[in-house]
Amino acid sequence: KVTVFGSFVVDLMGRSPHLPVPGETVKGSIFKMGPGGKGFNQGVAAHKAGADVTMVTKLGEDAFADVALNTMKDLGMDTKRIFRTGQTETGCALIMVDENTSQNEIVVILGACDTITDEEVESISDLLDDSEFLLTQLETNISSVEKVIDIAYEKGVKIILNTAPVQPVSDSILSKVDLITPNEVEAEILTGIPVDGEENAGRAADYFFEKGVKNVLITLGGKGVYLATSEKRGILPAYRVNAVDTTGAGDAFNGGLVAALAEGKDLWEAASFANALAAISVQRIGTTPAMPEREEIDSFIKE
Ligand code: ADP
Repeated sequence: KVTVFGSFVVDLMGRSPHLPVPGETVKGSIFKMGPGGKGFNQGVAAHKAGADVTMVTKLGEDAFADVALNTMKDLGMDTKRIFRTGQTETGCALIMVDENTSQNEIVVILGACDTITDEEVESISDLLDDSEFLLTQLETNISSVEKVIDIAYEKGVKIILNTAPVQPVSDSILSKVDLITPNEVEAEILTGIPVDGEENAGRAADYFFEKGVKNVLITLGGKGVYLATSEKRGILPAYRVNAVDTTGAGDAFNGGLVAALAEGKDLWEAASFANALAAISVQRIGTTPAMPEREEIDSFIKE
């Protein structure tokens, strides 16, 4: 069993011929609304990959909350551990995309996901009793991330921390993490070591090991991943595919990783499975709809 603890936001995406300057109104062409948030994307990816996932997030009492709940119901996901508040809106991301250059400007308002209380986190204590893995990120209020990691650690749950969006992480958190999964930029910000290949990824991994992290996996985009455990280190290359939209690649990867680990695969096998899942997702537009079903992943790996 897997608990995914993290953010939900509604993505509101508008495309226009150019991005507005301050004070300007630009007539746009396409609008799309859909579920998003790093935690939610990772939960959906793991669920679609076949894991027994319980998603924990927080929503308001508004129409955007229904975007999360309806998506979860459609996918057959458990909605029992969703916190609600009438005091704050459901989170949303305002995404403006220049249709010529594909450049974007994004404002994320985390709303309810920025207000998860210690009491709410304590209320999932029984869920963590039954979980083998906890996957979390840095997109909800940091106090909630600290709290859920503390509780999970006490119970011996294996903790996977995806360090997105990046912000300082305390040594106390790091010492409890079984597997940390930064991308190159996050690894550099957290360790101070620029990461772009095997040699400096190794040095960044050593930094995390010194802080007590047990295993380090740095995602390297189209280059794959660098994985370091106490026994073995090295690069696992990405699948060569024609990427059309790499938004959410890291979310796809992390969801696939925890799903494979929960099946008993070792870290190397799990990273390879996650590479496949992410490679399928980058060939499609969108985030949660781009996450493949289990059969697609299995047949992609066989090809
Ligand atoms: P993030 O989205 O967090 O920046 P990365 O860009 O490192 O994360 O990508 C995460 C994973 O997604 C990679 O480790 C790889 O498995 C997969 N991936 C990303 N870009 C590509 C690509 N162009 N081709 C194949 N796989 C990719």
